Amino acid sequence: DVGLGEVPALTRADPPPRSFGEALIEAFDLRKSYGDNEVLRGIDLHVRQGEVVALLGPSGSGKSTLLRCINHLEGLDGGSVLVAGTAIGYGERGDELVERHVARQRVEAGVGMVFQQFNLFHHLTARENVAAPLRWVHGWSREDAAARADELLAQVGMAHRADALPRHMSGGQQQRVGIARALASNPKVLLLDEPTSALDPELVAEVLGVIQGLARQGGLTMIIATHQLRFAREVADRVVFMAGGVVVEQGTAQQVIGDPQVEATRRFVRAMD
Ligand code: ADP
Ligand code: MG
Repeated sequence: DVGLGEVPALTRADPPPRSFGEALIEAFDLRKSYGDNEVLRGIDLHVRQGEVVALLGPSGSGKSTLLRCINHLEGLDGGSVLVAGTAIGYGERGDELVERHVARQRVEAGVGMVFQQFNLFHHLTARENVAAPLRWVHGWSREDAAARADELLAQVGMAHRADALPRHMSGGQQQRVGIARALASNPKVLLLDEPTSALDPELVAEVLGVIQGLARQGGLTMIIATHQLRFAREVADRVVFMAGGVVVEQGTAQQVIGDPQVEATRRFVRAMD
């Protein structure tokens, strides 16, 4: 007989319990090859509303390809993926859609992406980069889009550089603008592909800090491909470890990073720590 009195009380050091909503990303048996190179060899991945997933794995294991397939930046060779119930890139009859429809589907399903190389528009200022999706995809007026862009730039600590062009910003600043731009469409899920791996070491923390802030705020679902194990331990509700195009291990950071069960994971953790 376990009375309520025996349930351990939360101490102040415990994180608040997080509760998750329904499945936001449902990938079944994803397969993708480039020529004879079978890059994704049957990936199953389910991510629930509000969950923060760290995607780990050696270089070449297929992390970027997986994120790109979820977002239909690459077509699939097999399996299926739904984002908020939508098969991005495909019509109701399963036909592949043209790119302008795909862009709208991404927005409607609520998926945003942050790239390793930032992918900002070089000829546009920080404010214009963030305002671009609001103007082009959502049809906002120039004034409304600029005002919203300024709010988002403030959120990533870039309000003071709103008028700067990418080439006049540090890599860390460019990536923070990249995050603000991905947030502009108010996504349900953010896919981040090694967001700090193109940065000089001293610029990594400012970008991880922004992502950590988003994770703490809650509500936003994220899949973050990263080599930063300490960061993964701090932000991830779940760690998914990929090797050779399959998910070889997943669980809490404590399980996967702290006590890996599979040799490939052990080797990776040893090399990264
Ligand atoms: P990761 O992000 O884990 O480093 P990737 O998904 O980038 O892995 O790459 C997985 C494999 O797919 C690698 O062997 C890579 O060379 C190959 N690959 C990725 N993108 C392409 C492409 N556009 N064309 C041909 N091969 C590719
Ligand atoms: Mg990659």
